[in-house]
Amino acid sequence: MASVLHFRTTLPNFTYRRPSSLNELLQLKAELGGEASLLAGGTDLLVDMRSGIRRPKVVVDVKGINELHLLEHTRDRGLVVGASVTLGELGRNELVRFKYPVLYGAIRKLADPSLRERATLAGNIANASPAADSVPPLLVYGAKLELASLRGRRQVPLREFFTGVKKTVMREDEVITKIIIPEPPEGSEGEYFKAVRTSEDLAVVGIAALFANKTEPRERIVRLGFASVAPTPLYMDSVEELFRRDAPINELIKEAIKLVLKEVNPITDVRATKEYRLHLVKYVTAYLLRKYLG
Ligand SMILES: Cc1cc2nc3c(=O)[nH]c(=O)nc-3n(C[C@H](O)[C@H](O)[C@H](O)COP(=O)(O)OP(=O)(O)OC[C@H]3O[C@@H](n4cnc5c(N)ncnc54)[C@H](O)[C@@H]3O)c2cc1C
Repeated sequence: MASVLHFRTTLPNFTYRRPSSLNELLQLKAELGGEASLLAGGTDLLVDMRSGIRRPKVVVDVKGINELHLLEHTRDRGLVVGASVTLGELGRNELVRFKYPVLYGAIRKLADPSLRERATLAGNIANASPAADSVPPLLVYGAKLELASLRGRRQVPLREFFTGVKKTVMREDEVITKIIIPEPPEGSEGEYFKAVRTSEDLAVVGIAALFANKTEPRERIVRLGFASVAPTPLYMDSVEELFRRDAPINELIKEAIKLVLKEVNPITDVRATKEYRLHLVKYVTAYLLRKYLG
């Protein structure tokens, strides 16, 4: 039987903390672990708290920490996005628009402009929803996350971050400090396709596609990332490998669609049936591959 969420008009009781340094934040996480939830824009967390899905004892607001507001680009590291940078800031950034058009397209299709002024890229990732729009583009750009705790810092490729619906490899005392998005391949192009029921809806299916060096098979780059087709966002390693083969492009496209349909495992929910999602995956993937390679 379908479960019903009861939204409250007020939030449950919690203690609010607003550390002013990263070290203070990491100390709080080391002491409280899972009892403390981080608050960035709050557009996922507060909804979950009002519906009773989450009841953290302590809410730790990260917006007062200067280090997390970093947004910088260098040729050797690429784009480095601090955990408090909002989607609104990224959507107005000319470098994001012209260098990372797949990510830019996804941000502009995520919710509405006022929500994007609060919501962060880190929050979209940490929430670990299979429908997160920013994730498929970050997968095709090969993004990494920096995770920090009092024990130290480590970098995790985003392709290894998600383990299930709302589940990640992040430990209870860790936080995301930054998202590192490498320089895109020279001359790359692509887009983010989002199928929705109405504007400002979560994705029925989201597909990020990135292409470069299309004529030389061994150098060819074809990267596909998907939202809302499996318990986690999906990156198609198998497709990237396939397109390095020296074979007629139409044969490779047919083979790629078979590979994609084998890897996706969508569900039926309020937004769409499993069958409709499979139909979209098949036809939109074919459309994107033919548009850029055909
Ligand atoms: C009306 C509405 C429309 C929406 N539409 C879309 C949509 O079209 N597409 C889409 O993808 N999403 C959508 N969302 C979901 C949401 O807005 C995004 O996921 C957003 O990016 C979350 O960012 P936030 O900063 O608000 O996260 P928060 O709510 O502050 O945090 C989200 C989760 O991440 C954790 N967290 C935050 N920062 C960190 C950190 N630095 N380290 C570790 N954990 C952290 C929090 O504890 C929480 O568990 C929508 C939400 C609403 C309410």
